[in-house]
Amino acid sequence: MSTPRERGSGRRGPGGRGGRPPRRSVEVTSVREVTPNLVRVVASGELEGWNDGGPGAHFKVFLPVAGEVVMRTYTVRDFDREAGLLTIDFGLHADGPVTAWARTAAVGDRFAVAGEARPGYVPSAGARWCLFFADHCALPAVASVLDALPADMRAIVFVEVTDPADETEFRSAAEVQATWLPESGPPCAALLAAARSVVLPEGPGEVWIGCEAGAMRGIRRHALGELGLPREALHSRAYWKESVPNHSDHDTGSDDG
Ligand SMILES: Cc1cc2nc3c(=O)[nH]c(=O)nc-3n(C[C@H](O)[C@H](O)[C@H](O)COP(=O)(O)OP(=O)(O)OC[C@H]3O[C@@H](n4cnc5c(N)ncnc54)[C@H](O)[C@@H]3O)c2cc1C
Repeated sequence: MSTPRERGSGRRGPGGRGGRPPRRSVEVTSVREVTPNLVRVVASGELEGWNDGGPGAHFKVFLPVAGEVVMRTYTVRDFDREAGLLTIDFGLHADGPVTAWARTAAVGDRFAVAGEARPGYVPSAGARWCLFFADHCALPAVASVLDALPADMRAIVFVEVTDPADETEFRSAAEVQATWLPESGPPCAALLAAARSVVLPEGPGEVWIGCEAGAMRGIRRHALGELGLPREALHSRAYWKESVPNHSDHDTGSDDG
C-alpha cells in the first residue's frame, strides 16, 4: 500500500520530530449534519492521555485527500476523555481539500491528529464580560468557550454566517446575548460593522476575535483605537485568509497593533 505524500505540513513527521508529541491515529465513528454547512465528525482511536487544550483549543488534523496528506487547523469542539471520543465541527465553505473531505466523511475513515491541542481561551480572572466576533468557521471555538463560561460572566456574541440556516443555539451557564449577522459584501464585513457600532458594557472585559485575517485586523484596530482597550484584553486569531490556502494559525494580528 502506498503512503500518501505530505502537503503543507512542514518538516515534522508523524513520529513527532521537532520536539512535538507524535501524531495520534483516529477513525471516524460518527458523522452528522449539525446545520446545512456544518458537519460534526466524532473520532476515536489513539487518544489515551491526549491533551485537549481546554475550551476553544485548536490542533492540526492530517487528512488523506487525493493521495496526499493535507494538514489544517481545527477546534476541539469536545473531547470525552473517558469514552475516548474527539468531536470536530467542519464548516463547509467553497472548495478547500479539507472541506471536500468533510463533505464525504464516513464512518471508518481514518486520519491523524496532532499529539496535543494548543490552549484556547479562558477569560482572565476579573473580566466580567466578553465580546465575541466570529465567522462560521470560528463558531465551534465560540461554542466551546461558551460551554465553559461561569454563570457570573456576560457574553455578547456576534457571528457572521453566509446561510441563516446555520444559526444555532448556544449552551452556557453565562448570560449570552447572541446576534447573527448575514454576510453582506466581503467576508466578515458585517462583523467589522458590528464592532464599529458596539457599546462596551460597564466594568472590565475582553474581546475575542476569530474570523478572516483582514477583518480580524480591522476589528482589532477598532478595539485598540476607538474602544480604547488594552492589548492584553484582546484575544484574536485569523481563522483563514481570503484567497490563501492553509493560512498560518499563528496569525494573531499583533504585528499590526
Ligand atoms: C485556530 C483555528 C481553529 C479553527 N477551527 C475550525 C473549526 O473548528 N471548524 C472549521 O470549519 N474551521 C476551522 N478553522 C478554519 C480552517 O482551518 C480553515 O477554514 C481551513 O483553511 C479550511 O481548509 P480547506 O482545506 O477547506 O481550505 P484551504 O485549502 O485552506 O483554502 C482554500 C480556499 O478556501 C478559502 N477558505 C478557507 N477557509 C475558508 C472559510 N472558513 N470560509 C471561506 N473561505 C475559506 C481560502 O481563502 C482559499 O481560497 C480554524 C482555523 C484556526 C486558525
